Amino acid sequence: MSLAVTGARLDGQVVGLRAEEGRIVALGPGVDPRPGDELIDAAGMAMVPGLVNGHTHAAMTLFRGRGGDLPLMEWLEEVVWPVEARLDAEDVYWGARLACVEMIRSGTVRFWDMYWHPGATARAVEDSGLRATIGAPLIDVGAAAGTSTLREAAEASLEQIGQPRELIAPALAPHAVYTVSESSLRWIAEAAEERRLPVHIHLSETEDEVERCVEAHGDRPAAYLDRLGLLGPRTLLAHGVWLDDAELELIAARGATVVINPVANLKLAVGRAFPYLAAREAGVQVGLGTDGPGSNDSLDLFADMKTFALLHKHEARDPAAVSAAEAWEIATGNRSPLLAAGGLAPGQPADFLLLRSDAPDLRLGELTAGLVYAASGAVVDTTVVNGRPLMRGGEVEGADEVLARAVERARRLGLGE
Ligand SMILES: [Zn+2]
Repeated sequence: MSLAVTGARLDGQVVGLRAEEGRIVALGPGVDPRPGDELIDAAGMAMVPGLVNGHTHAAMTLFRGRGGDLPLMEWLEEVVWPVEARLDAEDVYWGARLACVEMIRSGTVRFWDMYWHPGATARAVEDSGLRATIGAPLIDVGAAAGTSTLREAAEASLEQIGQPRELIAPALAPHAVYTVSESSLRWIAEAAEERRLPVHIHLSETEDEVERCVEAHGDRPAAYLDRLGLLGPRTLLAHGVWLDDAELELIAARGATVVINPVANLKLAVGRAFPYLAAREAGVQVGLGTDGPGSNDSLDLFADMKTFALLHKHEARDPAAVSAAEAWEIATGNRSPLLAAGGLAPGQPADFLLLRSDAPDLRLGELTAGLVYAASGAVVDTTVVNGRPLMRGGEVEGADEVLARAVERARRLGLGE
């Protein structure tokens, strides 16, 4: 399968692009379609890389708008856990399909997911045409205590997700340091090393988590993970709100990535913003995430990008503290090799967006500033992943059916209206 785009605007030039077998094979002025190419006439449209959502729980679209003003523990105990106990693979499949439609519409081309029935999420991602790194939340403290149980759950989840392939990468996803025992975390470190799997974990989201970690293990969360062999270049830490300077130095030294979730953190009122300026100073690799649509509640990463930039300008009392270009680079996965999507160049994956030529919020002024401060995901006209257009002219094929099925599944779970 081959694809050709003509007449797109890229860095002030009018360019063409050709993709074969999911990769960009030519890009620049004078690149013309060849016979047999699927054609996209992009006259007047800007071409930009796609966004990377570094942390979400996709199928939680089913939980959207329920108990959203509750504190975390009440929301989990009263709204989420009782329903999750009844959740089956079909629920997760349609919840994740809906999330994929929303991400395609708002320009996300790949994401990192942590949720139950990961095989169903993998199927939803492949049927949608997006890319994802997927792991099941591994938990063994409390009701499901016992390391052998966690190992079995981990093996079963990897089996469900299957081997790494074009659109899907498996990960091990220990939920957090307070929900997984020390011995299980050690086992996960070994298993990840042996099988060269990424590790996706929530870390330092709340102050209480840090205090409990110091009490139980004598170390702050990042130092504790490091002691267990879990801090490395394939480790993705979601949140990191309460990391201190020494932990940021350690994370930078180990080459781990922190995914910042500014909207979810603000909505949950965790009491502080991720110490981004200190992290940048220390050289920490970062990405941007929405967190789950049950708690953000949006999957439109444009909103998180703007909030991220504004929050850190505000905190620093300096409008120059974070530039639009920097926020854009982070949101496109280009400040972490773990998230890196490759960029727009021959040889790289053919993942990119074409922006609506009639979007009023991008009509005037500098493009990157417009994308970060003025736009929403509604400016995306065309989303291409792996050389395949998943949306053209703002239309995602099958979106109505996906929404109808997701609503049906939510009703089944008592989450209807
Ligand atoms: Zn999360």
